[in-house]
Amino acid sequence: MIRSVVIAGGGTAGWMTATYLKAAFGDRVDVTLVESAQVSRIGVGEATFSTVRHFFDYLGLKEEEWLPKCAGGYKLAIRFENWGEPGKHFYHPFERLRVVDGFSLAEWWLALGGDQPFDQSCYIAHTLCEAKRAPRMLDGSLFVSGLDGTLGKSTLEEQRDQFPYAYHFDADEVARFLANYGMERGVRRVIDNIEHVAQDERGWIKHLVTKEHGEISGDIFVDCTGFRGMLINQTLGEEFLPFGDVLPNNRAVALRVPREEATEMSPYTTATAMSAGWSWTIPLFRRNGTGYVYSDEFITPEEAERELRAKVAPDRDDLEANHIRMRIGRNNRLWVNNCVAIGLSGAFVEPLESTGIFFIQYGIEQLVKHFPDNGFDPVLVGQYNQRMAHVVDGVKEFLVLHYKSAQRADTPYWKEAKVRKMPDGLAHRLEIASSHLLDEETVYPYYHGFEPYSWNTMNLGLGHRPARPRPALAHIDASNARAEFATLKAEGARMVAALPSCYEYLASIND
Ligand code: FAD
Repeated sequence: MIRSVVIAGGGTAGWMTATYLKAAFGDRVDVTLVESAQVSRIGVGEATFSTVRHFFDYLGLKEEEWLPKCAGGYKLAIRFENWGEPGKHFYHPFERLRVVDGFSLAEWWLALGGDQPFDQSCYIAHTLCEAKRAPRMLDGSLFVSGLDGTLGKSTLEEQRDQFPYAYHFDADEVARFLANYGMERGVRRVIDNIEHVAQDERGWIKHLVTKEHGEISGDIFVDCTGFRGMLINQTLGEEFLPFGDVLPNNRAVALRVPREEATEMSPYTTATAMSAGWSWTIPLFRRNGTGYVYSDEFITPEEAERELRAKVAPDRDDLEANHIRMRIGRNNRLWVNNCVAIGLSGAFVEPLESTGIFFIQYGIEQLVKHFPDNGFDPVLVGQYNQRMAHVVDGVKEFLVLHYKSAQRADTPYWKEAKVRKMPDGLAHRLEIASSHLLDEETVYPYYHGFEPYSWNTMNLGLGHRPARPRPALAHIDASNARAEFATLKAEGARMVAALPSCYEYLASIND
């Protein structure tokens, strides 16, 4: 029997893993987490997927218990700015497309030649985002009915309904919150530096050697040491597969910017195209997390910092910039011998679609599902590795689509994006998308967190449209579709009138 798990690293990945394992296995498995007081966490403001609620529900935590403690905000969508014509934007929301007479509203929008942009016509989230509305009424009720019950101990695989929002939060605060939560439930925390990782004669990890707490032994080790991959790469030598040939952004510079008007809080992440990459704005309760993700082939860190400052904080030379090198790609295997890499040590693609924490959540869930006994069944381990490879590779493809479909071509960076190599599968999918919208059969075929509506939203928002609408729609009475577009508009207006602003609602739960 596996009785003890040792987690190396106490960032978001380490503490999410520790608390989840406690929630899953209780006292049957001992969990020890070792984290350094000297090596800091990545700790930039973070945006998530709507499915992160499965994680918090699994831990039995209600939103109002943890969100206010982590400077949290709501995210209904990602707003893409300047990826096409300068000054234009569109939203990629957490909202599936409605279906009328067997065809999605996106197909109808193409067929009816709507005079308004796609996202504005087809999604309520567009209206709520523009009006900076919260997704909850002041009495706490959700703006869509039937989705607010606790999910209990369910996992991503059981997600059936699209929950309409995700969160923004301060990653450091989340790690702190989860650390307290975990320790109250029996996680042993050791604050110390790991100086060495000892292996047995087979090359399996025996124990961690710490500076002040001696050897820390366990049956299975989880590497959450961030980009350094101290266990999986530095000790076990697992090969890292870089994605730089298709996703060249390899650096970021981040700034924490106080919001001039604290109340002007947006319920969305903004991703703005820049000269050599894109910048994020993540509204937290009292400030904005901002940053510029770029490729150092096209711009120096100093130039990137200048460009970011000019955009988000022109008068605030006092704000300290945090420069970060990013390791983009994944390990060939994320589970090797008795070591599982979760978080940045395992895989990371650039944060354009906020997938870092999603990978962590999926990795932990799969670890619990594939949890071994002393035999470490190679089939279980192999399946874990295959699933993790699929989820990361699917997101990689989806992100490359953002650059391939973007219309922008005004700088060397954006010109190069047009001719850069792309994954084979994506080339085929873009060809299909030039004829008609993608569906379950034609998007990346393994679970990777994005549904066909997301692929189509990005393509249409970025300007990559099918050459013509589906011919079948010319033979179907369009009155139901027209009625649905009108209903959607009316629902949006009603909600804007009824819902509080994002800030107003969050202030009410921060009291
Ligand atoms: P880290 O935060 O780096 O933590 C590593 C831990 O290991 C620390 O506790 C450190 O002390 C410990 N450690 C290291 N070496 C030792 C040692 N020798 N001894 C003891 N302890 C050690 N994800 C999202 O989901 N949404 C986003 O919007 C998003 N934005 C991002 C923006 C950028 C620029 C970057 C780089 C990442 C972003 N991510 C995002 C990813 C996200 O930050 C990470 O997935 C998440 O924070 C997990 O990090 P981690 O715990 O793996 O590593």
